[in-house]
Amino acid sequence: MTEFIEHWIAGASVAGDAERSGPVYNPALGTEQRRVRFASTADVDAAVEAAAQAFPGWRDTSIARRQQVMFKFRELLAGRTGELAAILTSEHGKVLADAAGEIARGLEVVELACAMPAYTKGEYSENVSTGIDVYTLRQPVGVVGIISPFNFPAMVPLWFFPLAIATGNTVVLKPSEKDPSAAVWLAKLLQEAGLPDGVLNVVHGDKVAVDALLHHPTVRSISFVGSTPIAQYIYATATANGKRVQALGGAKNHMLVLPDADLDLAADAAVNAGFGSAGERCMAISAVLAVEQVADEFVAKVAERMSRLTTGDGTRGTDMGPLITREHRDKVAGYLDIATADGASLVVDGRGAEVDGDPNGFWLAPTLVDRVPTTSSVYRDEIFGPVLSVVRVSGYEEGLEIINSSRYGNGTAIFTNDGGAARRFQREVTVGMVGINVPIPVPVAYHSFGGWKDSLFGDAKAYGARGFDFYTQEKAITSRWLDPSHGGLNLGFPQHD
Ligand code: NAD
Repeated sequence: MTEFIEHWIAGASVAGDAERSGPVYNPALGTEQRRVRFASTADVDAAVEAAAQAFPGWRDTSIARRQQVMFKFRELLAGRTGELAAILTSEHGKVLADAAGEIARGLEVVELACAMPAYTKGEYSENVSTGIDVYTLRQPVGVVGIISPFNFPAMVPLWFFPLAIATGNTVVLKPSEKDPSAAVWLAKLLQEAGLPDGVLNVVHGDKVAVDALLHHPTVRSISFVGSTPIAQYIYATATANGKRVQALGGAKNHMLVLPDADLDLAADAAVNAGFGSAGERCMAISAVLAVEQVADEFVAKVAERMSRLTTGDGTRGTDMGPLITREHRDKVAGYLDIATADGASLVVDGRGAEVDGDPNGFWLAPTLVDRVPTTSSVYRDEIFGPVLSVVRVSGYEEGLEIINSSRYGNGTAIFTNDGGAARRFQREVTVGMVGINVPIPVPVAYHSFGGWKDSLFGDAKAYGARGFDFYTQEKAITSRWLDPSHGGLNLGFPQHD
């Protein structure tokens, strides 16, 4: 009998209209393992209504109590990482160790949420004018919407809802329909941690559910992570409806390898950042810009490391798992024909490679393409798979020019032993997150995450201080307690004395 993944509304599983549903695969087996309900507009309305009902009580819950829920959630999540990792591996395909790493990075944000009082305590100026004090409060915005992508089914929701909840908001989360179980698992764990029902609701589905959130007048903000075209749509629609929006989009991350770099370190980094999670990371390195004089040696080192990688079922201790769906796997593999047609050379071809897993899984082993022209779609598109492109450049200047000409500006890295070159790069590059001899520069939770250009729409990055700002609105109070010496009429604009 088909097992359905239900919505989670007001602290209970809800089938909703149940007219439409979608497949949830096990990508390592290539089989449909469950189906997920797709929410109708009425289902989303019910979730928003639950969140709206829960809002006044949660907003007025003391900071100490809200913090206690977060601490408990942190404890439960840390203790049950293995359980969640198994869910991620079964629906997304990433190997278990990588799934555990994703959860660890999400946990960092839960820990940050426990520090909420320090980030939201406001400011106070005494006696700004005689007998008058001014102070600012940060208050929750209300019901907030979160829409997340398939590639980090636990970490991306965890970038947002812990901060939203800790600051007193209530939430409707719409996870990716491709791997939706993690979101429900997290919501149930929060209930176990003592979160009142209705504070975190999960609705599943596609554009219908997303549009219902974007147009719902009660939803005050949207946090979105996904591909650039959808991020643009989300930003335009939600801002037109008067909501505050942070919409994080796609990426094409470059790694610039200068001749003085430690080539072994750089080759390790390129392989780890290119093929971890089968390249389905928004911070994956997908294009290496190798300076010509060391490019042959660098490519050889990368190819040698790739020969040691194993691809297969993520539960079997392999290095890399399958792609998310058969369609996506075929689309990624299709770029390899384009690469050859565009004059690039296929150094390692992952098609048909040996795999430790079911033959029906969505497999494509690590692939290396050298001498990729920047005019090729292999270079220009976000492939989002285990395909590492090498573009040969004459030196720093050409490398920088290529990176800065990209429409994307999520992450980038420079590999060099020259401090001056690194410092110049961090200053000149038009990218939001920069690594210096670090390939995946995802900031820790107390800094904020977000790209530039077509990798982020809106000016609010995720988590860190910017995350707390996004989920709170500032209120400035000017107060005077009765002092008879300040009475009297004066229609002029208030001035200070
Ligand atoms: P996606 O854009 O296809 O989907 C993201 C979310 O939008 C999902 O919840 C999906 O159901 C919804 N959606 C899809 N089509 C829609 C439509 N037409 N209208 C309204 N909603 C729609 O992205 P994905 O394939 O799930 O995730 C991969 C993408 O996410 C990549 O482009 C990757 O770079 C990006 N990503 C970016 C970051 C970042 O921090 N910038 C992080 C992770 C992933």
